Amino acid sequence: MTRPRILVVGAGFAGVECVRRLERKLAPDEADVTLVTPFAYQLYLPLLPQVASGVLTPQSIAVSLRRSKRYRTRIIPGGAIGVDLKAKVCVIRTITDQIVNEPYDYIVLAPGSITRTFDIPGLTDNAFGMKTLAEAAYIRDHVISQLDLADASQDPAERAARLQFVVVGGGYAGTETAACLQKLTHAAVKRYPRIDPALIKWHLIDIAPKLMPELGDKLGRSAQKILARRGIDVSLGVSIEKAGPEEVTFTDGRVVPTRTLIWTAGVVASPLIATLGAETIRGRLAVTAEMTLPGQDGVFALGDSAAVPDLAQGDDAICPPTAQHAMRQGPQVADNIIATLRGRPLQPYRHKDLGLVVDLGGTDAVAKPLGIELHGLPAQFAARGYHWAALRTNVAKVRVATNWTLNAIAGDDFVRTGFQARRPAKLKDFEYTDAYLSPEQVRAQVEGTGREQL
Ligand SMILES: Cc1cc2nc3c(=O)[nH]c(=O)nc-3n(C[C@H](O)[C@H](O)[C@H](O)COP(=O)(O)OP(=O)(O)OC[C@H]3O[C@@H](n4cnc5c(N)ncnc54)[C@H](O)[C@@H]3O)c2cc1C
Repeated sequence: MTRPRILVVGAGFAGVECVRRLERKLAPDEADVTLVTPFAYQLYLPLLPQVASGVLTPQSIAVSLRRSKRYRTRIIPGGAIGVDLKAKVCVIRTITDQIVNEPYDYIVLAPGSITRTFDIPGLTDNAFGMKTLAEAAYIRDHVISQLDLADASQDPAERAARLQFVVVGGGYAGTETAACLQKLTHAAVKRYPRIDPALIKWHLIDIAPKLMPELGDKLGRSAQKILARRGIDVSLGVSIEKAGPEEVTFTDGRVVPTRTLIWTAGVVASPLIATLGAETIRGRLAVTAEMTLPGQDGVFALGDSAAVPDLAQGDDAICPPTAQHAMRQGPQVADNIIATLRGRPLQPYRHKDLGLVVDLGGTDAVAKPLGIELHGLPAQFAARGYHWAALRTNVAKVRVATNWTLNAIAGDDFVRTGFQARRPAKLKDFEYTDAYLSPEQVRAQVEGTGREQL
């Protein structure tokens, strides 16, 4: 008898936690586990702004998928570009651009989310995102290169434009990004005697009336005060009307000359979800509390790409797209697959939100763990302690702790690596959003070419 085939799509918080639990709890002859992922690591996204600001090296938050011999899952290096639920086949584009059909008995959809964009002229061509390791590393080099170019320029207008930076999105990702990068430029400018520090301007804008509303009014105001003290100009109720390569127009009419627009205004589910042709809630796959797809046998979805009912909140609430939920849903899906294999009942997912921690760089932070409002050093301890504990491996923990210590003792460093210079590097280039097939193309691929396998 052939073993059931479990295919997990995506090696993020949700996918990796699911795979590790399957490896631990299933005997090797009970099922074959396969993971599809374009990268050989699990990315600890909440620390991405600290990679962008150079406090952490990229490797320290990229946890290898192959650290242990016990990891017996077969890994396909590539991205899923479509799923045919009826035929139970996932279509994959490998990293060498080969298209393969991967049949499964159980599929776990955990491809996460992509940056949410709007129909704003010039946005996808001119904005950077903050969602991948490559983007964070690129932004760091880009910001330092703006200082280098401003320093060398003899043109006062160009100089001023290169020293203005715009971040859109007042959620935790955008706020942390603006705060960490401002700290970097503030420290770096001391090494550029030809640059007037007053010319460096960071703008953080959001269409919402409050920064990080999840934190509550008091902490939101506290974060805003910290940013104002650092000279970051926060504009609420404002968005972008137009984005060009050398200037950005705000909806309140201001035109800001800049070469740096960082867009972090929310996320939407991976485009893979649309290839299923199944019901969605605000783009996320509509699943049950057990994280199964109604009416489909053997389909599970979780993390940012799924609308998992939030039973702790009640009513029609769905879990917010956070790592906190994704990393807990992973093991629960694994348990539910095992329960299915062993003919036992499935369990619903339930988790009460633990709160939020926001690291604004240095000793600045705000946090609301378990409803307790913190700011300053206690908040920073909570923020870094939480992230440190949540890192998957001891190697990652040591790397991150060492980087933090080094940064606290030796300060920031301003090396521009230049590895990615001259590469197209805007939003549309990093997130491969045009790689996906339509449901019809998926069907044609599955029916037309037979069962090609790796
Ligand atoms: C800057 C930033 C800061 C954040 N801070 C926090 C925080 O402080 N606290 C918190 O709880 N959450 C935070 N989040 C949100 C959190 O990171 C996400 O909610 C979480 O990563 C979702 O987990 P996931 O497994 O669903 O997706 P991800 O972790 O994004 O993983 C998805 C994986 O799937 C892969 N993938 C994508 N498409 C495909 C495909 N087609 N085929 C195969 N693989 C694919 C991706 O490469 C990735 O490895 C932050 C996010 C960002 C961007």
